[in-house]
This record gives sequence, structure tokens and C-alpha cells, in this order.
Amino acid sequence: MYRPTIGLEIHAELKTRTKMFCDSANNPDETRPNVNVCPVCMAHPGTLPVINREAVKHVLRLGTAVGGKLADFTEFDRKSYFYPDIPKGYQISQYVHPLVTRGSLAGVDITRVHLEEDTARSTHAHGKSLVDFNRAGIPLMELVTEPVIKDAETAGKFARELQLLLRTLGASEANLEKGEMRIEANISVSNDDNFGTKVEVKNLNSFRSVERAIAFEVKRQTDLIESGGKVVQETRGWDEAKQETFHQRFKEGSADGSYFPEPDLPKLFLSEIPEFSSDAIRASLPELPARRHSRYTELGLKEGDATFITASVERGAFFDAVARELNGQRKSIMLAANYFISDLAGDPGKATPVTFAKLMNMFTSCTLSSRGAKDTLLILVEKGGDPETIAKERGLIQIHDEDALGKIIDNVIAIETKAIAEYKAGKLSALQYLIGKAMKESGGAGNPTQLSKLIVQKLG
Ligand SMILES: [Zn+2]
Repeated sequence: MYRPTIGLEIHAELKTRTKMFCDSANNPDETRPNVNVCPVCMAHPGTLPVINREAVKHVLRLGTAVGGKLADFTEFDRKSYFYPDIPKGYQISQYVHPLVTRGSLAGVDITRVHLEEDTARSTHAHGKSLVDFNRAGIPLMELVTEPVIKDAETAGKFARELQLLLRTLGASEANLEKGEMRIEANISVSNDDNFGTKVEVKNLNSFRSVERAIAFEVKRQTDLIESGGKVVQETRGWDEAKQETFHQRFKEGSADGSYFPEPDLPKLFLSEIPEFSSDAIRASLPELPARRHSRYTELGLKEGDATFITASVERGAFFDAVARELNGQRKSIMLAANYFISDLAGDPGKATPVTFAKLMNMFTSCTLSSRGAKDTLLILVEKGGDPETIAKERGLIQIHDEDALGKIIDNVIAIETKAIAEYKAGKLSALQYLIGKAMKESGGAGNPTQLSKLIVQKLG
């Protein structure tokens, strides 16, 4: 049997005000080409790079969140690069001394996390090549895992958790379809203790394509070896339409020779810089997804519900804000969770934490019935506004006034002579029937418990 071995290399564009080594804006939403450029990122002679502290901090925070080791000493390296999307002719990256080593996430060991600069964006059309340098020099984090992943599902889970962590830390939007997070998988198969020849798969722009490409490659390589062929070291792409990988280029040998320390940047003794010390970095971390998840299960949420709310930063923030509005009352919060997950699928629409919590309180105080609360919620989500006003306008506020309810019951009693005879003969279902009639007569605004009590009183 052939066992797969998978390692991941993930790049993420970091959210910073300016680029990695200059003052040009880091704005991924800029649509005009070549406006966020300056002499530094265009590699004019005589210019010098300056390290972006914000970008360093993002990587150190991520490293701390995954339990990695922050480097005492770190430096940048030049990596030879001969394509037009980096005008310098080299990329500034990190090779020997990355910012972070070790750590783990989703049960997968991490080798290293380092910082480098992104390339420009090239477009090839009508026999011409166009280059947009807005992206050139944007801070790029690269995370490399150990080759310890055994299946596509684990790889997908790791990538999803990394995306959530990057978003939680505010380090990156990490949208795969926008190229803000780029995943490469190194895949090999082997039937003994040695590693097989690894193949690198690129262009994976969704989590599903990561999983499918890995499954496809494992099968392709296994079939190839079984039929007497040999796996060659190559880079392959993923064809979304055909759902298969395809050859892009053969891999050259080791890249060791193409790096040397960047002479234009200072070497950093991180532990001696107060804002980069591990204590300062740790103190700056927000609540992490794993902690948030266990907080929800401790509160009483089911495992799946806790996972669902934790999986999105916005969802978690909304739910926590509602819980604060409900003053931490556990019963009301559980009710809110149920409405938020089951009725709204985690999308509150135009409801705010304040109006959503107010609606929950209207239900728990019996101002609204369950039906009335659901009807009010639908309108609240679609149009926004005040839940009390919405419920009043639609006559959904429950009637508690005994005189008003008594009149409703008198009307029902006057008509339902058959059911009353049955009730007096001891048929219990007749009472339910009468309550239902009274509810209908009240336009759904009666309180069923109160109606029941009054009917029993009146019938003796
Ligand atoms: Zn610049």
C-alpha cells in the first residue's frame, strides 16, 4: 500500500498601511494600475528599503498564537529572481533566520514562518505582457509545515484554521479567491520508510480545490508507480474545470545557492526590541479561535454550534455582543444562539446586537409568543428597525389583560358548544382545541398559558 505524505506552503498578504520596505500604500482594493508605487518599490538606483514594523509584528503574533518560537536573531536575505514582476532582480525574503520556527495548528507541525515581499501582478493578453506594480512589495507571510500530513482532509482543515487565525489576528483578510492567501501542496507517496519523489501543486484557490488536488495527486502517483512508471519532481497546476492536476514545469535543484544576506537592511535582535519581545507580543493577542470555541461549549452550546459561530470572526463578534446585551443570562443567550444559528444561519442581516437582544427579551418576558418572535425576527433581519415597533404594527404583542382575554373566551364559548360538552365529559383534547380557537380569535396575540387558565375557570 502506498502512503501519502503532504506538506503545505502557504503565503498570506498582510494587512498593513504601507508596503514591506517603503511608504507606498498597501491597498489590495486599488483598481487603477501602478498608482501605489515609489522609487523604492520600483528599484530606482540609490534607494534603500526600510523594514515595516507592523508586518514584523503580524508574523510574530501569528507565531505566538501557534505556539512557535520567536527568533532572538533574524535577518533578511536576497533571493535571486529574474522575472519582470520584481524590478530589483531579487526578492527580499528570509532564508537562514526566519522570524518564527516550530509551532503547530490543527494537529499539524509547523516548520517556520517568515516574511518576504510580494511580486507585481502580470497579465498576458493579445501577445503583450502588462505589469501592475501596486502589489509589488506588499508584505507577504510564508508559512511552511512539516511533511506530516497524511490526507487531504487534514490539509484542508489546517488551511481553514490558518485563515480563521489570520483573520482573528487582523493580520490578513486571507481570501483565497482574491489571492490574499495562496496554498501550495507538496505531495509524495511511498510504500516504505523513505519519502517518495515530491510533486508541488499550485493554483489552489479554494479549500475544496486543495483537498481535491491532493486526492487526485495521491491517486495519480500511486497509479503511475503501480503501472511501472516513475514520479518526477515537478510543479503542477490545478485545472478546476477538469478537476485534475497538469504539468507546469520541472523543478530545478536546491535553491540554497541563490540566497545571501540583504546588505541594505539591519539585522534584528528581536528580544532586545521592546515592542517585539515575546511578552509584549503575547499581551497584544486577542482571544484565539480555540479559546472562543471552548468558552462557547462551557456556556452550554453544542459542539457543532460552537464550531459554527467560531468559524467566522464576524459571527463570533455579533454573538458575543448579543450575549453582552443580555447581561450574560445563560438561558436567554442559549435562546439567542438557537435563533441565530437555526433561523438566521449566522447572518443577522439588518438586526443589530441591541435589537436582536431586545427581541430575545420580548420572547422570554412573554411579550411575544414563539411564533410572534419568529415573525418579528424575519422583518427585523430584512428591514431593520425596532422589534417592539415591528411587533406592535403587526399586532403580534401578546395580550395579557384578563378582561380582553375573557371577552375572547366568551366569544369562543358561545360558538363551540360541542367541544364544551366534550370537555365537561372529561375529554382533555377538547381543552387544547378550545385554546387553539381562542388563540386564533386573538390573532395569535393571546398567551396560551393564560388562556388555558381562564377557560378552565370559566367552565368550572
Ligand atoms: Zn514603494
